[in-house]
Order: sequence, then C-alpha cells, then structure tokens
Amino acid sequence: MQQFLNFINGEFVATGKTFENRAPVDNRVLGLVHEAGQREVDAAVAAARAALKGPWGRMSVVKRVELLHAVADEINRRFDDFLAAEIADTGKPLSLASHIDIPRGAANFKVFADIVKNVPTESFEMTTPDGGTAVSYGLRTPVGVVAVVCPWNLPLLLMTWKVGPALACGNTVIVKPSEETPATATLLGEVMKAVGVPDGVYNVVHGFGPGSAGEFLTKHPGVNAITFTGETRTGEAIMAAAAKGVRPVSFELGGKNAGIVFADADFDKAVAGITRSAFENCGQVCLGTERVYVQRPIFDRFVAALKDKAEALQIGPSEQPGVGLGPLISAEHKQKVLGYYAKAKAEGATIVTGGGAPQMPGALAEGHWVQPTIWTGLPESASVIREEIFGPCCHIAPFDTEDEAIALANATDYGLATTVWTQNLGTAHRMASAIEVGLCWINSWFLRDLRTAFGGAKASGIGREGGVHSLEFYTELRNVMIKL
Ligand code: NAD
Repeated sequence: MQQFLNFINGEFVATGKTFENRAPVDNRVLGLVHEAGQREVDAAVAAARAALKGPWGRMSVVKRVELLHAVADEINRRFDDFLAAEIADTGKPLSLASHIDIPRGAANFKVFADIVKNVPTESFEMTTPDGGTAVSYGLRTPVGVVAVVCPWNLPLLLMTWKVGPALACGNTVIVKPSEETPATATLLGEVMKAVGVPDGVYNVVHGFGPGSAGEFLTKHPGVNAITFTGETRTGEAIMAAAAKGVRPVSFELGGKNAGIVFADADFDKAVAGITRSAFENCGQVCLGTERVYVQRPIFDRFVAALKDKAEALQIGPSEQPGVGLGPLISAEHKQKVLGYYAKAKAEGATIVTGGGAPQMPGALAEGHWVQPTIWTGLPESASVIREEIFGPCCHIAPFDTEDEAIALANATDYGLATTVWTQNLGTAHRMASAIEVGLCWINSWFLRDLRTAFGGAKASGIGREGGVHSLEFYTELRNVMIKL
C-alpha cells in the first residue's frame, strides 16, 4: 500500500502513527499518511533554520532563480505523476487538473523567481543637515522559516502559490498539506531532491490541525511567519497561535461571493461564466459564487438557462470524457453540503434543480457525489445565503438597481471576490469601486495574472500575495542609509 511520508531535511520520514487517505470518487483507500508529531515538527523547524545558514542562505539570487526554474521544469517533466496524484486525492475532472492545477503549480515557481530577480527596491539621495549627501536604499532579506498551511481544494496550486515566492525570496518552508490531500506536496519533495534544492529548504509535515501537525507547526517558536489558506475560523485559531512572538500572518480565508448579472450583459457569456463560478471544482473554490443576483428583466430567462447548464453537467470520475463535475472531497463534507440542501428546502426555497445526491453506478456509489443545485425564492436571511457551503450550488435572486445590487453584494461578513457581468463600462467601474472585495472580475471569473494582487477583504483574509505583493510578506524590507 502507498505510504505518504513526511519530508524533513531532504529525507522521507515515516512515523509510528498513520491515517488513511481515501479517494473521493469511490472512497477506496489510496494509502497511509504518516502523521507528524511534535518530534517531527521540531526536526523540520530545526532543518529549515539550519538551511537558512547553509548553501541556500549563501546562494546568489541568480542561482536560486535557476534552481526554481529547474523545479518548475521537473514538475512539467513529471506532469503525469502530479496529475495522477492530484486526481486521486481530489477526484476533480482531468480536464480541470490538467489545465489549471498542475500547470499553475509549475508556473508559480517560474513567475516568482523572475519577479525576485527583476524587481528593484527604492533608492533616494538627500542633502544632510550639515550640507553633505546621503544615499538610502532598500534591501530585501528573507523573513526566515515560513510555515505554509494549506487546504484541499486546489492542493498543488495553492501550496506552490506560497512556496514559490517564499523560496524565491530566500526563505525556507515547512508545508502542512491538508490531511485530505497529502500526495502532491509529498511528490514535490522528490522534485526538490532531484533538482538539487539543498536539504532543509523544503519540508513537509503531514497531519491534522488541532492537537496535530498544524497546531504544532503554527505554535512553534522557531517559525518566523505563517501563511495560511483555509476557513476563516481556522484562521482565527492560527492568528491566536501567531500572537505569541508577534509573528506575521498572511491569510486567504473563506468567502460568500456574489455574482451580479446586469440586463445589458452578453447573456450567453454571463450564463457560461456563472456556470463556472457556481459549479467548477464541484463548487469547492473559495472564489465561487453561491449568491447570484440577476437584474429583473432577464431574471426568469437566466434562471432557466443556468438550470439547463447545471443539468447538462456530466457527473462522473476524472478520466470520463466530457465530465464536468467530480465528487466532493470527503464523506464529512458531503454530509455538510447535503445538510445545507435540506436546510434550503426547510427554509422554503424553490428548488430549480438538484437538491440531493445522484445515484452512481458500481463502486462509484461509495463516492461523495452531490447534484449541482440552484435555489430561488429565499429571503436574504436564509442559511444558504449567509454561510459558506463550499458545494456546487447557488441561490439566484432578482434586483432592480445598481445600488440595490451593491447593497446585496456587501451584506456579508466576507469580502473575497465578485464577478460582475455588464457591457456598460461605467456600471462596471462603479461596481468595482463599491463592492467590498479583494478581487473583482468583470465579464470573467477566476482569470488570473500572477503578477497581480490576490487576497480578501473583511473576514476573507489579511494581506495580499501575488507579484511584488508577495515580496512584502516573504521579505523584511531593510532601509540602509549611507552618509557619503
Ligand atoms: P481548513 O481551515 O479546515 O483547513 C486548512 C488547513 O488548516 C488544513 O491543512 C488543516 O489541517 C489546517 N488546520 C486546521 N485547523 C488548524 C489549527 N487549529 N491550527 C493549524 N492548522 C490547522 O480549510 P479546508 O476545509 O481545508 O479548505 C476550505 C476552506 O478554505 C474554505 O473556507 C475556503 O473558502 C478556503 N479557501 C480560501 C482560499 C482563498 O484564497 N481565500 C482558497 C482556497 C480555500
């Protein structure tokens, strides 16, 4: 049986304690994950600290950039291994993982290496009080040992989105992948070794959150900074852990994003866009739109069109040609999503489509499948409109005016993303200014340029990563003043 081992100081490390990793498509056991205890976390932190002083710490930026390009090339060379590992862990459609997850996993190393190589720091010349001259300049230094705590929905993509810039800036990392998706982080250990990244620079500790590797890592005094993607309430626990030692955090948290469709939108493109934003990755995308607001003149037509799209989505295993919807990540998550489906019904929703679990054939019957689901008719106070579900579902409500759409979009504690569909540039710009989010897509969704800022407002996060913004978190900016 496959063993998912920790990766500490360049070695794969077994522990006496294992838990099962199961496939979402049919619940079969994929392998055993070796849970890291305090001892392994201590060893990983010690290795990461030592590596800061070793060849990695002394390496020129040019050499570091070359190595990170080699990491990306090696991921691409082993593309099929990464693809198979990601698909087994998540059950997501092959078309999705092969177009987004794995290519972006590789790109995250190249893009941030190039940014670090090319982005200058500030420099000023000034006249001193005695009439002389002084020159000051910024010097970026690594923050040190960075803990990277990851979720399960886009495992390789979201992990490398943080490991790429952290390493490019000269830090060392300890990754705690989600307990649901241990495979690609482990595989990346093989890549690091193969291309010659020094031991201790990239470490992986497996396990859970409280009372396990996640808590041990984030509470560890040898960790200098914590970058985390996951639920808002987990962020609260990690922030409390980070308070000890006043360590910086970068948080990408939950969302309850609004999709807004104006009557003047390109109708077909808007329907296609909202189909993606509501159902892609089985709705397990932090940027997804579980609240959709459509301007009244096109409301009925839009609901009917989205219903057709949802019902046309093929539900099935990753490799099945044409499949558009995989399973949810786990039995527990399926229970949570179906709980919301039941709540929507109990609270009086009109179920436009879905609302339950599909019958799947053979072994797939053991998988964590749910139907794509659309509701209408609920008041804004309903649970499925207020709380993040993280499933393939949305509620659609009509609106009349721009101001009303803005108020509806903002009536949430979260503030991650929005997608607005309109052909009027003025409307687009006013919406982008008024909706309280970190990311606003106009006539698009989840379209990313890695050089741009990414992050959430309100309860959806702290800080921004992406492009030069990542350097703000992964480096200390030191000011050097030279009196000439
Ligand atoms: P989660 O918060 O349950 O777990 C994330 C990680 O934190 C896991 O590795 C887990 O083991 C660890 N963890 C849990 N409790 C911990 C603790 N007390 N101390 C240290 N580590 C702990 O999130 P999830 O269910 O894996 O992911 C889904 C959530 O992630 C959703 O809320 C989603 O919106 C959010 N998300 C946000 C973004 C973003 O960019 N804003 C991206 C993807 C996912």
